[in-house]
Amino acid sequence: MKFDIVALGELLIDFTPKTVPGEDETYFQKNAGGAPANVLAALARQGKRTAFIGKVGADSFGSFLASVLEDSGVSTSGLVYSDTASTTLAFVELNSDGDRSFTFYRKPGADMMLEQSEVNLDIIANAAIFHFGSLSMTHEPARSATFAALAHAKEQGKLISYDPNLRLPLWPDEATACTQILAAMPYADVVKVSEEELLFLTGSQDLATGAKQLKERFGLSLLCVTLGEKGCYYQAGAYTGHVPAFSVQAIDTTGAGDAFMGGLLSRLLDYGARPSGLSDQELQDIIRHGTASGSLATTKRGGIPAMPSKAEVAALLVN
Ligand code: ADP
Repeated sequence: MKFDIVALGELLIDFTPKTVPGEDETYFQKNAGGAPANVLAALARQGKRTAFIGKVGADSFGSFLASVLEDSGVSTSGLVYSDTASTTLAFVELNSDGDRSFTFYRKPGADMMLEQSEVNLDIIANAAIFHFGSLSMTHEPARSATFAALAHAKEQGKLISYDPNLRLPLWPDEATACTQILAAMPYADVVKVSEEELLFLTGSQDLATGAKQLKERFGLSLLCVTLGEKGCYYQAGAYTGHVPAFSVQAIDTTGAGDAFMGGLLSRLLDYGARPSGLSDQELQDIIRHGTASGSLATTKRGGIPAMPSKAEVAALLVN
């Protein structure tokens, strides 16, 4: 089967606290979590053929995650099950300022136990884009599996998309995080970082300087720096510019970056999945699909359930 895009990485369950007005008790809502899965769900909602590569436990949580992916239109033919490790569970704490922190029930869980031999190379060979993040590089054997998949995707001439998605508490220390995240950069063509991640990876306080440094050091064909409600700054070839976000009633920014990535890659696929050779106008059109998708995701709660459809993105873009 042919796919537009395959993503490899973490897949876990987030338990998010909920309080019911008038009740003292807090209960936890079970959600599928993991940035690569969110990106694929966004792409599937925007009409693209997607597949996930990763590992869950052979337990009820693993079956739940597989069914969420399938229901979202994401193929699970690359999902494998561990008999020894349990599905990763994360408990989300909402701080008073609305920030989220995670406590892991078992670290590392099954998703970090993906072996190189378990990566379905046929799926990668049958997809136009390979997308990944850095969380699967925080532990072995998933780290080696990620690099083996990257080497295969590169060899096959696939477009490689990378969202480092820095989560410092999951790394032993900052220096290791920086080194390891940069170690995967030479494989990447399209990269999305936040301003904080750009500063962390380059040490540059200046947006344009840091972006140029990252893009040129690794020969990236498109670098997007997402700026929350300010939209996205980009550099590609000789082009550089800014695409604003859309003015929306934002209620929950969870998954906005993943929705951005989904919208961007979906439109990039329409242009043949090759950013080099595109005009600045075409690049802006692609990034506008990303910012529209990201902005729409902030208007709904949650990760996967907040991903906008192709029609919703199109409706926002005509405004
Ligand atoms: P991340 O830091 O996870 O990469 P951002 O928070 O920068 O993601 O959001 C990604 C995209 O989502 C932005 O580029 C923007 O288009 C959209 N977005 C995020 N927050 C808002 C907001 N408050 N209002 C409108 N759009 C937003």
